[in-house]
Amino acid sequence: MAAITEREIRELAAFRGREAMVTSCYLDVDGANHVRHTDVLRELDRLLREARVRANGSSSLAADLRRIEEHVRGGIDRSRTRGLVMFSCSAHDFWRVVELPVPVRSQVVVNHTPAVRQLEVVVDEYERFGVLLVDRQRARMFVFELGELVESSAMIDELPRGDDDDHSYTKDQVRDHVAARAHQHLRAAARVAFRVFQEQGFERLVLGASDEIASELESVLHPYLRERVVARCGIPVHAGDDEVRQAALEVEAAVERRKEAEVVARLREAVGAGHRGVAGLDATLQALVERRVETLLVSSGFTHAGWRCDGCGWMGRLGRACPACQAEMRQVDDVVEEAVEEALAQSCRVEMCVGNADLDVLGGIGALLRY
Ligand SMILES: [Zn+2]
Repeated sequence: MAAITEREIRELAAFRGREAMVTSCYLDVDGANHVRHTDVLRELDRLLREARVRANGSSSLAADLRRIEEHVRGGIDRSRTRGLVMFSCSAHDFWRVVELPVPVRSQVVVNHTPAVRQLEVVVDEYERFGVLLVDRQRARMFVFELGELVESSAMIDELPRGDDDDHSYTKDQVRDHVAARAHQHLRAAARVAFRVFQEQGFERLVLGASDEIASELESVLHPYLRERVVARCGIPVHAGDDEVRQAALEVEAAVERRKEAEVVARLREAVGAGHRGVAGLDATLQALVERRVETLLVSSGFTHAGWRCDGCGWMGRLGRACPACQAEMRQVDDVVEEAVEEALAQSCRVEMCVGNADLDVLGGIGALLRY
């Protein structure tokens, strides 16, 4: 599975088609939306027809569209792939395929750079995270990436022997012994979790354990894991894999919304104080052009037509002469997409916000500034 990392997205965003434009094709191949392969092909035909109209005699672009069509007609493993993304710039022999286990919105974009905005939304939404479920005797550890289970480990402690047969123990000794065993079990669970973390790596950890053992469990976790704990959940250890996945995704989405709300709150404060924060399309594009952006915030559905200067990189809503260098600018369908690519190429943090009304009130886009 050719999934994608943030680093790869930044590399894509940095590619420039100097000799010819880059074709970016997002194709929804989700079995729920397109049941048969012919349905996928029909969707593709619709997209390519639009793009051919705009190809305007460019041989590189025509070759891009042929290659994309051949790739899709060659077949896709739709048991694992729900969103297919292809980037092509034949003049530079540039070709990338990303297969995502989550659906995308079908779209063809022809531009000087790969259109990575949808990829960024996906990677931002689905961080790699672990789930550790523990009760008194069992522990299970899961890792999810892009909403899919990539690793699961289980550990079952041997049942304690019938210690109460031995009448030489006092009640206190038995109680101490039981507590010591429970502690050992939690330490063993913590070791399993750390081994999985070392092998798989993940950014966030969700704990599923009763209140009585959750604090003790957290205290025995490796510090690397403790600092990654973002939430607790009530998933029982014996839950089925799919139940765990569903519940874990809900927790993860809630964590992501909370993180977005925190960043938007920081933006509101900064804008309110008139210090290190801008909101709205014009001010944000200006800050990007001036390379002052630390974090770019974008409402996931926000788009706006605009202009881009290929000479100096200026972006804005209004054309056609560049206000910075007076060159004639290029009209773009979505200047917000340009902003996301520019931010990624400048190594800014990018936060794609889903359903955040506060950001919408601020104009759907904003930036925390470095200075
Ligand atoms: Zn310019």
